[in-house]
Amino acid sequence: MKCFINGQWLSLAKQMDVVDPYDNQIIDTVPVATREDMTLAIDYAVDGAKAALNMATHQRCEILRNVAQSLSDERESFANIIAREGIKTIREARAEVGRCVETLRIAAEEARNLVGETINFDQMPGSENRIGHFVRTPLGIIAAITPFNDPLNLVAHKIGPAIAAGNAVILKPHTNTPLSALMLAKLFDNAGLPKAVLQVLTGAGREIGDTLITDKRVRMVSFTGGRATGEKIIARAGLKKIGMELGSNCAAVIMADADFDKAVDSTVSGAYWAAGQNCLHVQRILVEHSIYDKFKQAFIAKASCYQLGNKLNESTDMGCIIDEKAAQNIETLLKDSLTKGADLVMGGERTGTQFQPTLLENVPKDARLHQEEVFGPVSILYRFNNLDEALDIVNDVDFGLQNGIFTKDLATALEAAKRMECGGVLINDTGDYRIDAMPFGGVKGSGIGREGVKFAVEEMSEIKMICFNL
Ligand code: NAD
Repeated sequence: MKCFINGQWLSLAKQMDVVDPYDNQIIDTVPVATREDMTLAIDYAVDGAKAALNMATHQRCEILRNVAQSLSDERESFANIIAREGIKTIREARAEVGRCVETLRIAAEEARNLVGETINFDQMPGSENRIGHFVRTPLGIIAAITPFNDPLNLVAHKIGPAIAAGNAVILKPHTNTPLSALMLAKLFDNAGLPKAVLQVLTGAGREIGDTLITDKRVRMVSFTGGRATGEKIIARAGLKKIGMELGSNCAAVIMADADFDKAVDSTVSGAYWAAGQNCLHVQRILVEHSIYDKFKQAFIAKASCYQLGNKLNESTDMGCIIDEKAAQNIETLLKDSLTKGADLVMGGERTGTQFQPTLLENVPKDARLHQEEVFGPVSILYRFNNLDEALDIVNDVDFGLQNGIFTKDLATALEAAKRMECGGVLINDTGDYRIDAMPFGGVKGSGIGREGVKFAVEEMSEIKMICFNL
């Protein structure tokens, strides 16, 4: 596929292969954009921002609605490419496309809701003759940088709100998974989006990503990815708005009074969805002492039925790791825990990029898995005696995206909701439950700001006050 620069599809001098991480087969090639290509795209985006500002609300709505419809019409080909370029099974990929349709539909609706308020100036003596209001105006040019694990929907969570709010946006998708993002850009092109309102450049993050985030004409960096990259970007970006959707080490708390089957089903799914490569991966599972052994057995019984294999097979339950280096990193974290005294309950084996669903217990506090994000199909069981003890374990990490608690007791649920240090608390769901309209983001090392379309639209616009002296 080609890059999308200033309304044109360009193949640049250098190309790179996009490979299926399951079997290393080459699926396609994409251009490797240079820093100069990126600077040129930012030059074009200056005009793109003017074109975006001049698009009437109904035009933004219509384009976003049309893209949502086209995506819905082509959902199977998008699902196929997500499953091939990335880590998801075909069933998981279909679910992502369905969510992406929803994200774009919400963006079309939110474009209408970008409204301001009137201010009563006569509250201040001497200002009786003034009236005024504020409006929300676009920021201008937005840099969107996205990860590999949801290569389509997380792109839509940036492009959709950026266009709804009247901005130009330059997207740098993940190096390994650029194809579904380029296919989505094609739908925007077909829908008649003015040129340079959306541009997509493929290539290395530390090269073209760096040029994009450091350019003074770019007004906001909307980043989703790893914490280490996020911290580098913050240090380099300078004076601009920042949206940081980073990783986590999410917890699920299972109280003795929980709906047992629901808790088992949700935690197994949350632990191994997308082979654990999910910012909301259920990495830590805390179970009340009296049901711990029963829960462990039920979890193993369910998870050990998981079938690994070709992501395109309907019967495959879990896909693969994005590349061999990432799979080795997961192995390193696992070995660190085992040498420090943890017990392997299930799994632990790796063949190439295939990693078995893995469960540990008795992981000591100084193990890296207790503190860090594994970003793979490895979860830990913890035993606790009361809610206080559970919440201490939940909060004992420098992350806080979303956590879950399973209980039938309202007071317990409310206490957990109050004390869990994170951006979202799910009662009777694991923390990986999400709809695209809800505010989404983290505290501590999990990020800054909120996505979820309405909230991203707010972040991607700014308030302008207008006052009349009559
Ligand atoms: P990553 O940080 O390696 O890469 C993310 C993006 O940043 C890629 O497009 C990459 O090319 C680019 N990049 C790399 N170096 C850069 C630089 N110096 N300057 C500018 N851009 C640069 O992350 P990943 O491995 O793709 O994704 C995994 C991480 O993303 C996990 O930590 C996961 O939890 C997190 N994530 C968070 C959310 C969320 O919404 N909070 C969602 C999905 C994934």
